[in-house]
Amino acid sequence: MNTTNSHQLFDRAKEFIPGGVNSPVRAFRAVGGNPIFIKSAKGAYLYDEDGNAYLELINSWGPMVLGHAHEEVEKAVRDALSGSFSFGAPTRREVEMAELITRMVPSVEKVRMVNSGTEATMSAIRLARGYTGREKMIKFEGCYHGHGDSFLIAAGSGAVTMGVPDSPGVTTGVARDTLTAPYNDLDAVRTLAEANRGNIAAIIVEPVAGNMGLVLPKPGFLEGIREICTREGIVLIFDEVMTGFRLAKGGVQERLGVTPDLTTLGKIIGGGMPVGAYGGKREIMEFVSPAGPVYQAGTLSGNPIAMAAGLAMLRHLDTHPETYNRLEAVGNALAEGFRGNLQKLGLNYTINHIGSMFSLFFTEQEVYDFESAKTSDTRLFGKYFQAMLRRGVYLAPSQYESLFLSTALTDEHIDTIIRASYASLEEILVKA
Ligand SMILES: *Cc1c(COP(=O)(O)O)cnc(C)c1O
Repeated sequence: MNTTNSHQLFDRAKEFIPGGVNSPVRAFRAVGGNPIFIKSAKGAYLYDEDGNAYLELINSWGPMVLGHAHEEVEKAVRDALSGSFSFGAPTRREVEMAELITRMVPSVEKVRMVNSGTEATMSAIRLARGYTGREKMIKFEGCYHGHGDSFLIAAGSGAVTMGVPDSPGVTTGVARDTLTAPYNDLDAVRTLAEANRGNIAAIIVEPVAGNMGLVLPKPGFLEGIREICTREGIVLIFDEVMTGFRLAKGGVQERLGVTPDLTTLGKIIGGGMPVGAYGGKREIMEFVSPAGPVYQAGTLSGNPIAMAAGLAMLRHLDTHPETYNRLEAVGNALAEGFRGNLQKLGLNYTINHIGSMFSLFFTEQEVYDFESAKTSDTRLFGKYFQAMLRRGVYLAPSQYESLFLSTALTDEHIDTIIRASYASLEEILVKA
């Protein structure tokens, strides 16, 4: 595989961009080697600067749930472009977007558009604090909620991979207000809630966690948190930036039947453009400026091109429920194939899977929280990643990331991926 052009671009990038990338995980540090520079993508394939093609299992970390450059989204963006790119004034599409989101995610009665998942979670936490008049929050170890200061405590994926669990630059004052509990440990949450009664504004959780690899909530975990929040007057925030519009039309809250007070959204909601949103109970959302006292704003929020892309994406998902059947089928086929591979090779590695999200952990332990995820052999994962890349399959470049499947994957693609995975595992285990 020739990657000369990617290497040259990376050398140039390192001169002028910190680490050569605009988001840390892209640098491939967790898997070794140099990052691949992508030139274009269509459907299930990525194409790099050297003309190599890869079957795509990240899909821009989730947004491209219909595959790359889906015709309806592309057309919507083209049509919108001729009307100028930004006004900083209200537009029709923002109204249509808000109506559609509140219909697809019923716990969201009012919604505010922002420009990223990070903005959504930062704003939701400020709102929860403003609404309750309390300052502390609880987050879970290994959950990632964007790079806002108060979330960079036990923050999973990027932070784990880079070995900076608590980033310099986050003040001790901010860190003090963030309490952490292990994922799936309801007793720990109960203990924190009791020890800090009357001081906790919010509990924020990835209701299915995708930032320490894929980790599923144990039965009763989300229900238990819901109960504690209701009893203690704590705002429950589901961070569905990854899972929203993916694990069901209405996200995990629809799929597992637990209702949060606030929801943060991102990724799919922008159809590939930079978009995020936070929303929830009318009573709480009425605290957001200019309706209420909690300030939050954005020059480019509700940007017309971004709204056009997001609307086209959500409308497609809303009017094509069979999309979700296909996502389930693709995820199930991949998981089954990978399980078959492990069996044939006599390996006991752990597979976590739900719908179109998937992780193969290089550990024999059950993975249900950050500690158990960290028992994975990340060196072996790095070799596996490179072996898959050489076979034309583009995985997330870290053990601590979920894979995101798309409807552009055909049964044939899935078979190709399963065969590539078998060959890669065989290769790295023989060489190991
Ligand atoms: C990606 C992600 C974010 C951050 O979104 P950005 O758009 O990268 O700022 C927040 N929460 C979760 C669960 C995410 O997966």
